Amino acid sequence: MKAIVVREFGEPSVMRVEDVPAPEAGPGQVLVRVRAVGVNPVDTYIRKGVYARKPSLPYTPGADAAGTVKAVGDGVTACAPGQRVYITGTVAGPFGACAELALCERAQVHPLPDAVTFEQGAAIGVPYGTAYRALFHRAQARPGETVLVHGGSGGVGTAAIQLASAAGLVVLATAGTERGLAHLTAQGSAFAFNHRAPGYADQILAATGGRGVDVILEMLANVNLNRDLALLARNGRVVVIGNRGTIEIDPRQTMSRDADIRGMTLFNASPADLAEIHAALGAGLRNGTLRPVVGREFPLAEAPAAHEAVMAPGAHGKIVLKA
Ligand code: NAP
Repeated sequence: MKAIVVREFGEPSVMRVEDVPAPEAGPGQVLVRVRAVGVNPVDTYIRKGVYARKPSLPYTPGADAAGTVKAVGDGVTACAPGQRVYITGTVAGPFGACAELALCERAQVHPLPDAVTFEQGAAIGVPYGTAYRALFHRAQARPGETVLVHGGSGGVGTAAIQLASAAGLVVLATAGTERGLAHLTAQGSAFAFNHRAPGYADQILAATGGRGVDVILEMLANVNLNRDLALLARNGRVVVIGNRGTIEIDPRQTMSRDADIRGMTLFNASPADLAEIHAALGAGLRNGTLRPVVGREFPLAEAPAAHEAVMAPGAHGKIVLKA
């Protein structure tokens, strides 16, 4: 089968299409015919070799994908060949989702409703899982509260806006382009702000009548965290989802508000947490409140270009590879 193979860490060009042996489903495993693969920023950190979790070389990148079940191993009864699914990872080892076939553990395979395309299915795993965990497990957001999705135009932000709107929160969100701003409103954000415009934080505070927001989901903490603290209401919580450097903050801003800064990584979600997350996401996909948005598609062989694109400004939903 064809697969993207990385033989050395480095620039996007280290990803090359190769013919590799097709895997077979062992006990408790599911083999999936991949139709679309989601590209996440973390895939680029892993490819560069700068991420805390480094695979052994060579490896095939990609965790999020969608397709149909090709075969199931002994003991797998919850899905059957032909079923449409989205996947949230592959078995440990050299396997990855950027391939014609992906070998998964049973718990990494989830039903994909007929109304959701394979491309949309590839946009679910990390983005929607992260947004759900940030909003409900870490921020413990409640209906009626206000949430600022600070970076709402990309994969996680789009998911967060949809999840928060469906749960009865009032959503404020930011993007860095006109197209991104229109995207925020289309996803259910009541207010849209440009995080590249001078003074936009004052506009956010004004939109809350000076009260501040209850929750901030932060996609670029090394730029925004200090400013975020001044945007929080009393008992406000900032969840650090994305961070690409260091920042100086004024801790006094947390004192006057009894405010919290809460970090998160989806890798810390337990099997029980993940089961809850995907039960909730499945319900939202079936009832139409969750509608993954695919902004750009590339053929699998153009994975290097997709890795460049996911790190460039001007996000609009997800970037996916077609297998
Ligand atoms: P993405 O699709 O590439 O989107 C990036 C988002 O960041 C876009 O909305 C972008 O807006 C926005 N952004 C750019 N400059 C910003 C600024 N100055 N202030 C606020 N937002 C800004 O990436 P993603 O998949 O949504 O992931 C977002 C971040 O979270 C990444 O750093 C990723 O590594 C991290 N992440 C962490 C976890 C975790 O478990 N902690 C899980 C998933 C992702 P414009 O392009 O419109 O400017």
